[in-house]
Amino acid sequence: MKALVYGGPGKKTYQECPKPQIQHPGDAIVKITKTTICGTDLHILKGDVPACTPGRILGHEGVGIVESVGAGVSAFKPGDRVLISCITSCGTCEYCKKQLYAHCSNGGGWILGHLIDGTQAEYVRIPHANNSLHHIPEGADEEALVMLSDILPTGYEIGVLNGKVKPGDTVAIVGAGPVGLAALLTAQFFTPARLIMIDLDDNRLQVARTFGATDTVNSSDGQAIQRIMELTGGMGVDVAIEAVGVPATFQLCQDIVTAGGAIANVGVHGVKADLHLERLWIRNVTITTGLVSTSTTSMLLKTVQAKKLNPSQLVTHRCKLDDILHAYEIFGKAADHKALKVILEA
Ligand code: NAD
Ligand code: ZN
Ligand code: ZN
Repeated sequence: MKALVYGGPGKKTYQECPKPQIQHPGDAIVKITKTTICGTDLHILKGDVPACTPGRILGHEGVGIVESVGAGVSAFKPGDRVLISCITSCGTCEYCKKQLYAHCSNGGGWILGHLIDGTQAEYVRIPHANNSLHHIPEGADEEALVMLSDILPTGYEIGVLNGKVKPGDTVAIVGAGPVGLAALLTAQFFTPARLIMIDLDDNRLQVARTFGATDTVNSSDGQAIQRIMELTGGMGVDVAIEAVGVPATFQLCQDIVTAGGAIANVGVHGVKADLHLERLWIRNVTITTGLVSTSTTSMLLKTVQAKKLNPSQLVTHRCKLDDILHAYEIFGKAADHKALKVILEA
């Protein structure tokens, strides 16, 4: 089969690889029908995720059709159409019992396209398939569901839920990439009064307005703090969601959060960022971090089916899996291509 293989920082090839086989009774082999590229794949290619070693097939998002299952898989059978969760989980360990699937201690967590081969391939092996796949409802928009593998649960769990967005809140989201936009869409479950989107890219900010942002701030002129203080009458924001993953944006969140507010860090950081406890301690600020657990995927699936949430708006480009190198170019230069998510069809 063909797959996108990581070759070390800055290197990737689309090449022939062995088709995955069932290795454990809990495994399923899924034939990928649609997959995509994540900002985290770009972090891996930058060398920010050293646990991902050369030779690894990348990708942790996608939908497909179950091809075969191990003897221990009872919830899925060959032919089932499935949504793949970016987080693999046994469902029975102590962390899984707390729905902290990100930390599954039976070899789960974020392993796809990281510690084991991932979904940017014609076939993928999914361990602990019973708890790590979701049935796709009849007639569902499968392209939209690819957004539920990672970015929607990430924006919702690590941004909106960790930040405890409430009705009437003023929320700032730093980073209008797919994850920041997913936070923007799901924050609206809680009817915040204001949703301020911050990015360097005017096109993404324009998209954010069509997704429900009430205000946008282009921070490239270095005036973002001042602009946000003007927008909030000098108060700052109740919730600042960091969806970029660089020190400057974590710093910005610390500068714009109001007393009693929350900073929810979502971005994957490759280098250390300063934490100004000397200024924050006296302001009753809560700071949260996290790797998505995808414990809300079933709920999100229902909201999509009920048309309360429309993640297909995040898809801007489509191409064949065979053109994945071109897709990486588009996604890597998203501003030039006005790209959000690129769907790859196998
Ligand atoms: P992305 O690269 O598409 O989007 C990042 C956005 O940040 C871009 O629009 C870019 O213009 C903007 N940006 C860059 N520097 C900026 C700055 N200094 N100020 C303001 N905006 C700036 O990435 P994405 O796919 O949306 O992912 C966002 C982050 O979330 C990444 O760090 C990704 O690795 C991370 N992530 C975390 C989890 C988790 O579980 N915590 C899961 C998935 C993704
Ligand atoms: Zn991801
Ligand atoms: Zn577990």
